[in-house]
Amino acid sequence: MSDAIEVSGWKHVYSGKVRDLYVPDVTPEGAHADRMLVVASDRVSAFDHVLSPGIPGKGELLTTLSLWWFDQLAGADGGEPVPNHLTPDDLPAEVAGRAMTVRSLDMLPVECVVRGYITGSGWAEYVVRGTVCGIPLPEGLENGDRLPEPIFTPAYKAPLGEHDENISFDKTVEIVGAERAAELRDRSLEIYRRAAATAEARGLVLADTKFEFGADDAGVLRLADEVLTSDSSRYWDAEAWRAGATPSARMASFDKQIVRDWLAAHWDKEGEPPALPADVVDRTVARYRELLERLTA
Ligand code: ATP
Ligand code: MG
Repeated sequence: MSDAIEVSGWKHVYSGKVRDLYVPDVTPEGAHADRMLVVASDRVSAFDHVLSPGIPGKGELLTTLSLWWFDQLAGADGGEPVPNHLTPDDLPAEVAGRAMTVRSLDMLPVECVVRGYITGSGWAEYVVRGTVCGIPLPEGLENGDRLPEPIFTPAYKAPLGEHDENISFDKTVEIVGAERAAELRDRSLEIYRRAAATAEARGLVLADTKFEFGADDAGVLRLADEVLTSDSSRYWDAEAWRAGATPSARMASFDKQIVRDWLAAHWDKEGEPPALPADVVDRTVARYRELLERLTA
């Protein structure tokens, strides 16, 4: 994507749907860099499409929330430190507030999704097959119900432009090996449980979330990318969930669901998605901001 900005001292090398990646500008062409600058843009994606317009301020909100969670998981919440990709470098002024400097890791091509509640693509599979990513679930669940236990439901991280695809644990073993697959599952479930407890103490349900991990030069698995943001997670108001009579009343969300719902009602997923109306943009940024305030206050 061409809207990546110039950053002094850094060279733009890649743009994902939301983030722009840079390496130190002294890095020779094609060489491996140890450090990277990850800049969160205001772009928003849904159903694997980047939408227009962007959501003003979103990059900064996502980065602030990610950094807060990385800090919690590094031990601020009282738990064992989870290794992550952050490095302590100074941030260039042009991107201060919406960037982080990180170790450049060998990323594992698996999106580590954990669901404590059933909705979204998990619900869609359950309705047809009674399973999510091949995991059998009890009969009679409603959209938005809490699961008996959180489940690990990985997705294969498709190259840019293709769709991520839910996969079984066996398929994960095929992709990354048995040992790494078990490590990804156990680490993901542990982080989800910790984060869900933190969210619950603040009146929020962490319904599901997605982690990405990479290995450093020593082979250590590190939590990377963004973590527990309103882009990568579904958060609901705990009180509304308890009291809500209908699925939509229960799932009063602080996340990208506003965008997904509008898009699902106004687009048949063929061709380019329509532009988001101003009120959807405004509501989304307001909810992202409210989530940050409720979690970090
Ligand atoms: P989406 O997350 O919406 O599926 P995407 O994955 O295409 O989109 P972004 O999240 O916008 O892309 O871009 C971030 C990219 O940087 C991803 O490809 C992610 O795997 C990668 N990445 C994140 N942290 C690191 C890291 N420490 N080392 C190497 N690559 C990283
Ligand atoms: Mg990503």
